[in-house]
Amino acid sequence: MSPLSLAFSALSPAGPRAGLNIFIFHRVLAEPDPLFPGEVDAERFKRMLGWLRDWFNVLPLNEAIRLQDQGRLPARAAAITFDDGYADNHDIAMPLLEEAGMNASFFIATGFLDGGRMWNDSLIEAVRHTRLEHLDVSDLAPALADLPRMPVGSWDQRRQAVQALIGRAKYLAPEPRLALVEAVLARAGVQASTRLMMSSDQVRAMRNRGMVIGAHTVNHPILAGLDDAQARQEILSSKLTLEALLDERVGLFAYPNGKPGVDYSPASVAVARACGFDAAVSTQHGVARRDTDRFELPRFTPWDPSRWRFGLRMARHLARH
Ligand SMILES: [Zn+2]
Repeated sequence: MSPLSLAFSALSPAGPRAGLNIFIFHRVLAEPDPLFPGEVDAERFKRMLGWLRDWFNVLPLNEAIRLQDQGRLPARAAAITFDDGYADNHDIAMPLLEEAGMNASFFIATGFLDGGRMWNDSLIEAVRHTRLEHLDVSDLAPALADLPRMPVGSWDQRRQAVQALIGRAKYLAPEPRLALVEAVLARAGVQASTRLMMSSDQVRAMRNRGMVIGAHTVNHPILAGLDDAQARQEILSSKLTLEALLDERVGLFAYPNGKPGVDYSPASVAVARACGFDAAVSTQHGVARRDTDRFELPRFTPWDPSRWRFGLRMARHLARH
């Protein structure tokens, strides 16, 4: 056993006191992205899986939760999760997971299946693919009125433009936001991709190959801002859509964005519970213990490109929780 594995065993022992480390991913790109160099690509994901395999016992999330409930979780237990339902989860991540002999759970926002897109990705696409040298959008929506004419010639400039646009659109209600996004795409002269998110067939294929599928609402709203009826509609309808698609019960849920008190509220937790899931995950940092609320399981991602720093950060994380 390597020194790091020994340290992880001491920090995360087997049995009733065992901790469950749940990792979050979103996308695994085929190639590094010059617009977002920090995003995980295939090479990097493969490397991370190697480390996770050396250091952790990676289990399917539903099984890990069951074992922890029974006090039988192995030492250094971990589960891998993906949020949102990007097509690269199927195309790039799944083959690498299979190659490493690992399982992951995929939380799907069902409203974007089969050609949809999240609003932030539409803005990114607009800026990424525009042939314009400058983007002037100040006349398109009141929320954009203060934006200067933005140069978008270099990747740095594009990154800044994306940040400015996302920052302005973030606080709008869904309808004006969608209108703003469509107007920006049109101004940029970009036809956004319809293949960014998974198709229903891809979700089915992932399940058939042993991956776990969980619900992540329909439209990825901030649940804390919805009343109970709207939250129930978002949560339950994504569950039922996936159950119809897969012809089986869906027991796991992930809160969109996932910060307790900010993105979801105690009322959202009550709604998720009432929708009949077994467990739900947040993005609160932490390690799940046996007495951790099954409807607010913490997750984290140690993003370090080097094995050593990745391992140290992980050890520090385990020591702290
Ligand atoms: Zn999400």
